[in-house]
Amino acid sequence: MAELDGRVAFLTGAGRGIGAATAQTLAARGATVVATDLEQEPAAETAARIGAAGGSARVMALDVTDVRAVDDAVARTVAEFGRLDILVACAGILRDNLLFKMTDDDWDTVIDTHLKGSFLVARAAQRHMVARRYGKIVFVSSTSALGNRGQANYSAAKAGLQGLTRTLAIELGPFNVNVNAVAPGFIETRMTRAVAERTGVDYEQLKAEVAATTPLRRVGRPEDVANVIAFLVGDESSFVSGQVIYVAGGPRG
Ligand code: NAP
Repeated sequence: MAELDGRVAFLTGAGRGIGAATAQTLAARGATVVATDLEQEPAAETAARIGAAGGSARVMALDVTDVRAVDDAVARTVAEFGRLDILVACAGILRDNLLFKMTDDDWDTVIDTHLKGSFLVARAAQRHMVARRYGKIVFVSSTSALGNRGQANYSAAKAGLQGLTRTLAIELGPFNVNVNAVAPGFIETRMTRAVAERTGVDYEQLKAEVAATTPLRRVGRPEDVANVIAFLVGDESSFVSGQVIYVAGGPRG
């Protein structure tokens, strides 16, 4: 019997990068995965890969900034499967700019997607988790929470997620709900590729530069993050809550 057999895992941003890798990892460990993403198509591709590997997945299009859509998606999950055990909030975007060039829209879009979106899915999920006295919630922070030039919006959101993690761990702990976060460093995904394209730097060169200043001398892969998330939603970490685990090839990337 696999570790997560019988568990239902709801993921946002599951169509690409870290979310897709996490969906596949949790499914491989036995969970039934509800793979949601802004667009249906990438989520369906993740579900197809899960199905091809013998796992079980359901697909939903979901914009995490839409409170009614979030509540509805979580309610539909519980109606269909009768439970919701695991929530992993991976949805994310970048709108990098130095402060003097950062628009209200750059700020709002990033805060809404990362911070408010994570709040909305967590609030919806905890209704069911608290009632069943069981739940695992993982947010995705970032080394940028510690400060990163050109990312005032993103670093504020990612630092905010660390406060949200600790606070929800305190509030939900008495109901046997664990709340933790991972804080990845540079991970090879479409998000970091887009940074290279926008700044006119060759992606391979960017990765080599980041690797050279990372203690473990490489950049991360989505699976590196997915494996830590899998640990945090499994039974082996059941006494770990309110923690932020850096997955960054060193203490802070
Ligand atoms: P990614 O490959 O771009 O995947 C992010 C996914 O989130 C995309 O499928 C995107 O959809 C989706 N998304 C964007 N806005 C959304 C919304 N409003 N509602 C629902 N889904 C939405 O990025 P990633 O690198 O895997 O990032 C995943 C998470 O890890 C993010 O929270 C990111 O901030 C965090 N992170 C990444 C790194 C890194 O180096 N890659 C480092 C630290 C933290 P579209 O493609 O359709 O926009």
